[in-house]
Amino acid sequence: MNNKTLSLAVDMYGCPNRCKHCWLGHMPNKKMEAGSDEWIIDYFKPYFERISFYSWLREPDFCDDYRERWQRDIELSVNISPERYELASFWRIVRDPEYVGFLREVGVKTVQLTFFGLDKMTDTYVGRPGAFRELLEATELLIANKIAPRWQAFIYEENKEEIVALLELSEQLKLKERCQAFGAEFRFFVHSGGCDGENCNQYNIWIEKENIPQALIPYYLNYESLLTEKECCELLREDATHRVHHNGDVVVLLISNSFDVFFNFTHMSEEWKIGNLKTDSREDLIRRILQEDIPALKLAKEVTMQELAARYGDAHSNKAFGLNDYKDYLLNRYLEDVLCG
Ligand code: SF4
Repeated sequence: MNNKTLSLAVDMYGCPNRCKHCWLGHMPNKKMEAGSDEWIIDYFKPYFERISFYSWLREPDFCDDYRERWQRDIELSVNISPERYELASFWRIVRDPEYVGFLREVGVKTVQLTFFGLDKMTDTYVGRPGAFRELLEATELLIANKIAPRWQAFIYEENKEEIVALLELSEQLKLKERCQAFGAEFRFFVHSGGCDGENCNQYNIWIEKENIPQALIPYYLNYESLLTEKECCELLREDATHRVHHNGDVVVLLISNSFDVFFNFTHMSEEWKIGNLKTDSREDLIRRILQEDIPALKLAKEVTMQELAARYGDAHSNKAFGLNDYKDYLLNRYLEDVLCG
């Protein structure tokens, strides 16, 4: 037994969307067999005193019996309760008239909705037609139930003007005033996310810092620490440190529908796999988790930021990055080269 808290997020049902920015990656949807939840909890129980269990990794409440499912997640958790977070399924909000009521019952006050511009652009980025219309409908249903929508927008070179139009739309819909009317706050924010998972495929259309429309700067997440790739390379030019992720007091494990296990450090690719719950030795897998002993982390300790920036950085690029996201981008490019050939 060790004194860390374990949080398990298991992809038991999948996700209706295939977003182009998805850091988790596009895995096939597969309903895991009955009893997998209990089996997974029992696997970890001898080693952790506190375990919170989430039956979703991608889309919350993407199963018809979401009410019972939430109760089951609470029952399965050990000495700690799972949290709701400010996340919900907009796919379900517009299809199931009882769902928003359920969100209220379990104490959800805000739900984040993700946009990529207006109708066609958002549909393309979410990966299914009708997504934009559903996001607007979900916004209305949430407000009608006194839950504040929070609009998150992902910005790239090709959609930057549409994000301005999206901000204007939120103003035309008076979302701020309508949320204030029931004592809540409407928030709109913009960013590009980390350049990992599916989102690293957007590197070529990554927003350049100077091309971020003026109107969006007050809404840009952590704009004050946003750098250009050129500035990141300059900062890392003589940086002999290593980009090594560590767990804090809580170990978060992401578990795929085929029982592969990953830390919550960056994307769920082969380089970052800890092992498989069904096929690996349990003792050894638990040891790898506790000692953070996986090939990606070993390699991360051997290569400096200086080497990574020299090898993969573009010292002429104005693409906008937070420094830590940029370090992850460089490290992931290296790991892919070394471990995947
Ligand atoms: S970003 Fe979220 S909603 Fe989109 S595909 Fe990934 S898990 Fe699904």
